[in-house]
Amino acid sequence: MRVLVTGGAGFLGSHLCDALIADGHSVVCADNLLTGRMDNLAPLANEPRFEFLHQDICVPFDPGKIDYIFDFASPASPVDYLRHGIETLQVGSVGTMNCLDLARKYHAKFLMASTSECYGDPLEHPQRESYWGHVNPVGPRSVYDEAKRFAEAATMAYHRYHHVDTRIVRIFNTYGPRLQINDGRVISNFMKQALRGEPLTVYGDGLQTRSLCYVSDEITGILALSRANDHWPTNIGNPAEFTILECAQAVLKVSGSTSTVKFEPLPQDDPKQRCPDITKARTLLGWEPKIELLAGLRLSLEYFRSAVESQAVRAQK
Ligand code: NAD
Ligand code: UDP
Repeated sequence: MRVLVTGGAGFLGSHLCDALIADGHSVVCADNLLTGRMDNLAPLANEPRFEFLHQDICVPFDPGKIDYIFDFASPASPVDYLRHGIETLQVGSVGTMNCLDLARKYHAKFLMASTSECYGDPLEHPQRESYWGHVNPVGPRSVYDEAKRFAEAATMAYHRYHHVDTRIVRIFNTYGPRLQINDGRVISNFMKQALRGEPLTVYGDGLQTRSLCYVSDEITGILALSRANDHWPTNIGNPAEFTILECAQAVLKVSGSTSTVKFEPLPQDDPKQRCPDITKARTLLGWEPKIELLAGLRLSLEYFRSAVESQAVRAQK
């Protein structure tokens, strides 16, 4: 297939490009590098089946005939989407609809990268796909949450009205190599702080929970969903749930750091608990994650060590 990956220079998008190339496909990556980096695509620099388009997907574009679209373009970390609030709303709405128009034009299949943030600060636990969520539509996180909820609505509408063959993946917190060191997400912050010997910044009392999925498990699940014949949202994430304090302890253990923990204020509307119910993915796709948290952190350590070192070298120049 000739596959379009929007946001392909980002964390998840670049791993997806690697996996699609390894599966024998041709890949066109469209990215405006708002939060992504060309470094993430370095392994594909000399790959003849790979093409990079420096493209804002909010502007209509046409990469030629394509068979599948993975729509992954969007700032994703709270720090990034709060910094780029309007761009986040635009890419989830105008950008996604431009991609849906391309899918319609070329009769391409379409997979939209949605998020556990669609459940907001959930009142149902763990979160099943049937739960409609508890989102503050005017709070600071709404630029992301509502953009993604709109993108899901647009995806379903193109399926219903224009018969586009669509899929929706609700991705839960994912980590691993290529997470941007400065994106403010919990694992990037904790790894960076632990490796620098600085205190780990735990927001609130640290008893809020997250369920963290290692990137290779997430990509395997997304690709399995891309091959399935189901148009409704599917959770892909790791159901092992940890408090943020437990995540801090895990990072300290894996890094061998003697950093302390420092408590800072909890951001507004920070979800108190988050855990995917993956019954649907297990039954529909036969998928479940294999890599538990300590193992995933060990697999990520070398990447974070070299990212912290390069940042220190850049700071000295
Ligand atoms: P990321 O910031 O690393 O990657 C996003 C990519 O999209 C970047 O390369 C960025 O430059 C690009 N982009 C943003 N706006 C664009 C535009 N208008 N046109 C073209 N490119 C644009 O983030 P990520 O973690 O890789 O997330 C990828 C997708 O997965 C996002 O849609 C995100 O909402 C979703 N997601 C990720 C997670 C996670 O834990 N990583 C969780 C839930 C959902
Ligand atoms: N968090 C934290 N310290 C940090 C970064 C994040 O305690 O340095 C907390 C944050 O408040 C949230 C959780 O870790 O409860 C996950 O945050 P992240 O930004 O990774 O993603 P979210 O799930 O909130 O989108």
